Amino acid sequence: MLKKQILINGAWVDAENKDVIKVINPAYGEVFAEVPKAHKADVEKAINAAAAAFESWSSLSPSKRGAYLRKASSLVFERKEEIAKLMTMEQGKPYKEALGEVEKGATILRYYAEEGERIYGRIIANEEEDFESRVIYQPIGVAAAISPWNYPIELLAWKVGGALASGCTIIAKLPSETPLSPLAFAECVHDAGVPAGVINAITGSGSEIGPVLFDSKIVKKVAFTGSTETGHEVLKGCIPTFKKVSLELGGSLPTVICRDCKLDLAVKGSVRRSFRNMGQICIAINRIYVEDDIYEEFIEKFVEETRKLKIGDGSKEDCDLGPMCTMGGVKTSVSHIEDAVSKGAKIACGGKKPEGAKYEKGYYFEPTILRDVNHDMLVMKEETFGPVVGVMPFSTYEEAVQLANDSVYGLASIIFTESLSLANYLSKKIDSGNVAINNVDAGVINAPYGGWKDSGFGHEHGPEGLYEYLLIKHIRIRYL
Ligand code: NAD
Repeated sequence: MLKKQILINGAWVDAENKDVIKVINPAYGEVFAEVPKAHKADVEKAINAAAAAFESWSSLSPSKRGAYLRKASSLVFERKEEIAKLMTMEQGKPYKEALGEVEKGATILRYYAEEGERIYGRIIANEEEDFESRVIYQPIGVAAAISPWNYPIELLAWKVGGALASGCTIIAKLPSETPLSPLAFAECVHDAGVPAGVINAITGSGSEIGPVLFDSKIVKKVAFTGSTETGHEVLKGCIPTFKKVSLELGGSLPTVICRDCKLDLAVKGSVRRSFRNMGQICIAINRIYVEDDIYEEFIEKFVEETRKLKIGDGSKEDCDLGPMCTMGGVKTSVSHIEDAVSKGAKIACGGKKPEGAKYEKGYYFEPTILRDVNHDMLVMKEETFGPVVGVMPFSTYEEAVQLANDSVYGLASIIFTESLSLANYLSKKIDSGNVAINNVDAGVINAPYGGWKDSGFGHEHGPEGLYEYLLIKHIRIRYL
């Protein structure tokens, strides 16, 4: 049994009362590791450590903080294979995908090492000649990060990078399903030599640790990525202490495929973005709207390409899809499929657990395309967070916009068209914080990423991700 400790005040420790959380390998449904289950006393130690470290960390120049982050980034690159192996075992994604995510985590730290040096203020001329306004940015203080299991390192890296580069110290509450790879990531930051307390990484129950962080007057900022439901709890918890909050929440991503698009590109993108990481991505495609005269052709090709995806234990074989991370995810996928079929949808492919002894114990599920769906079905309304996508035709672009916007979520959307004016019309009319046109990746490292509507508020990525951890100060000077 693999055992890991948590990081509090620069030391690797167990929970004070020795409680643990068991970690399951979803490829077999078996426990293979355990990590401490932190309680209030442990969280308070982490908060106090982060508070004690803030003064000196925030006083360092951005370039000195950047040097630590660059070193941490190098360590993540050096250890990427061993960290990726842990991620595949706890999360289920194929090793090559896990490796890509670890590399991205390292790149994010390096990016924020640089971006931290570009925190520029402003000088504003006043009406009176001898007065001037200066605008400067200062770190907000102790930050708390709460992240989910679907991208255990990437979603943590955005928060650690932004917080540390801006001069904040951090307490990272890691996901219980996948604590091992983010602990290994935090270890790289620790081993880069950051002073004790600058990064604290703890594991335990979200509903227990969350309120300790929210109630603390020391914690000034909470960066949360997770479900919209938990996002409500986080926001409510942060009201009494007026914390700055950023919420990256759930989504239900619409994709609009127009008749003039490059169909093969649209098919390839739809396969990748519907099923990658078993659909357990906040920006996974959930709903596809296809212009009616290419509807049948699109479905035929989409099914053909989806059937080529190889499913397996990504730690042992080269495959496209691993198991889902949790049994709960399989159950939601099944219930959304059953709901759609009972209301008239047809299963174009998938819809069940793959057959064969090697899939027996794990949380495997076939990538599933539902055709002829409508908006009475859960798959088109709720976030499945699984390898299930609904496809339906549209006949006018106004209808496509109306369908795309018929959702409480507004995280991202995808459009396939070769017409610049159509791309412009659809991207402006669809209510989402991110739009990808003729590609399926709206999130890039140096441009802001954030949701609209029930998908949350605030940003990660880009300089905006840094400003989430900074306060604005206006200094008005009279020159004597
Ligand atoms: P979740 O909301 O259940 O958990 C997220 C984190 O919050 C976990 O670390 C969990 O332990 C913690 N938590 C749970 N209850 C809490 C509470 N009461 N107070 C404080 N923390 C608490 O989400 P999940 O199932 O782990 O992740 C999947 C969800 O995350 C999906 O809805 C997905 O869309 C969303 N997500 C959003 C983005 C984005 O960028 N918008 C990215 C990835 C995932």
